[in-house]
Amino acid sequence: MTGTSGGTPPGGRPGSAVDIAGLHRAWDQVADSGDGIGRVHERAAALADTARAAGEPRIAELAVMVGLLCEPVVSGEETVTREFRSTVNNYIEALDRAHEERERAAETEEHTPVAHGRICLLADDGDHGIQELIRQLEHFGYTVVLAADDAGLLDEVRRVVPLAVIVDHDHLPNDSVLGQLPAPLRRAAGDNLPVLALSSSGGMTYRLYAARAGIQVYLVKPVSTHDLIDQLEQFAPATPPEPLSILLVEDSRTQATYFASILEQAGMRVRTVADPLRVLDTLQEESTDLILMDMYMPQCNGHELARVVRQVPRYASIPIVFLSSETQVDRQLDAMSRGGDDFLVKPIEPGHLIRSVAIRAERARTLRSLMVTDNLTGLLNHTRIKEELDNEVNRTRRRGGTLAFVMLDIDHFKAVNDSHGHPAGDAVLRSLARLLQQRLRRSDAIGRYGGEEFAIIMPDADAESAAGALESIRRSFASLYHDGHDGPFRVTFSAGVAAFPAHETRDRITLAADSALYRAKEQGRNRIVLAE
Ligand code: GH3
Ligand code: MG
Ligand code: MG
Ligand code: MG
Repeated sequence: MTGTSGGTPPGGRPGSAVDIAGLHRAWDQVADSGDGIGRVHERAAALADTARAAGEPRIAELAVMVGLLCEPVVSGEETVTREFRSTVNNYIEALDRAHEERERAAETEEHTPVAHGRICLLADDGDHGIQELIRQLEHFGYTVVLAADDAGLLDEVRRVVPLAVIVDHDHLPNDSVLGQLPAPLRRAAGDNLPVLALSSSGGMTYRLYAARAGIQVYLVKPVSTHDLIDQLEQFAPATPPEPLSILLVEDSRTQATYFASILEQAGMRVRTVADPLRVLDTLQEESTDLILMDMYMPQCNGHELARVVRQVPRYASIPIVFLSSETQVDRQLDAMSRGGDDFLVKPIEPGHLIRSVAIRAERARTLRSLMVTDNLTGLLNHTRIKEELDNEVNRTRRRGGTLAFVMLDIDHFKAVNDSHGHPAGDAVLRSLARLLQQRLRRSDAIGRYGGEEFAIIMPDADAESAAGALESIRRSFASLYHDGHDGPFRVTFSAGVAAFPAHETRDRITLAADSALYRAKEQGRNRIVLAE
């Protein structure tokens, strides 16, 4: 995590650290005559604003208090007495403590594997349905904190702001509590805190009542885990999109630096290649949303290079934009007809460069994501995961290190379809896809290899650590309940794991993982087997 005393707080939120330090400085400089107290008053107000904006209500509250305390001295009605100093000192110390607490909380949040989130649940801890619900949520990586009453709930929400609050309506002493809960919760945790209610009654009166109190989601028991997780996911902070990745091919160092810095300032990631002959290698190393290419280079010209890139089917859809001082319209049209997508004339105005590149790169990325993902699960499709494995094997071979590959297949899936129906089977596939996405690292590539078969590429992992990760997911998956027409049911999967460099090519590693999977099935299913 970033520094705890600096201005950049964890998670990149505008935090209070800087303002608290400023308040300390101002306070240290207050003379007995009262000189300098105006500065403290200003500082306290600024801190209150920052803290409110950063969702730190406790700090904001204390800062407001410091400001109020100073007011009589600022207006000259009172003087700086010993008592005044000690009172303000107390508040400033409390601010320091609140800030430290906040930092600790943020740190714990950061260390939770991926951004799954904390859920505060107000319910009866002796209720079996609730116990089961908590277990299911935990499999998806949520941390559930159970509170017995509204006071306990409020304490928990104050301690660390959760992703959402869930209230079991049946557990409340009377109906009016449900309506009164959201307001204090949101005062403590910010106006955007999602509040969900569970209830055994789906009556319109209750729903309306809850809606008026600002409860966003009202679920009737028995609550389907899938529905609840769908709802929770909509509240999860969206993972920021990967920056657009631009490959700049430009032989002039000055020009390259200039273009790269403009695009980087606009948030794009730019890789620069001076030698056009290195373009194919560079394209293979990382996914590229757009190629920005100088038209005139010593080894070959842009037209030729574009043709070479287009010869590789995988790169055929990457937009290419030429950069040149060329002004003859005929030549521009010629360049486009040879497979280039656009033509920008140097000198180019920075805003125009950014817009041209960003619009085309975004569009290409959207099209590509439609082409490479599986409709049902949103995972990479068969073709794409195989390509990805090819890339990763080559990259690992060049750079050294290990790479694990997993083939995974749902057990007796035909029987799932037969007994619970095809739609229930589809829901199981989606649920496994989601579990894999939540529990694996962002750098792992997950694909739907075929019907109920999945493939996972884990860069930098060896076979043992990959099997370890899979084992924990296997256990979670096996204990999830899925909804079927005759009530909930459970499903298991088997997997085979193989690794590079023990298996050296894409085909060998695939074959090894597949035969390990076959052995897992033979040995009785619901297990992970390592390749020989
Ligand atoms: P094993 O434990 O040996 O893997 O047995 P299995 O029944 O899972 O294996 P089998 O290959 O015999 O059956 C796979 C089933 O998966 C058959 C097919 O109907 C089902 N399936 C494949 N794709 C989908 C899909 O997209 N949705 C649903 N619901 N079922 C699918
Ligand atoms: Mg040039
Ligand atoms: Mg199969
Ligand atoms: Mg199967």
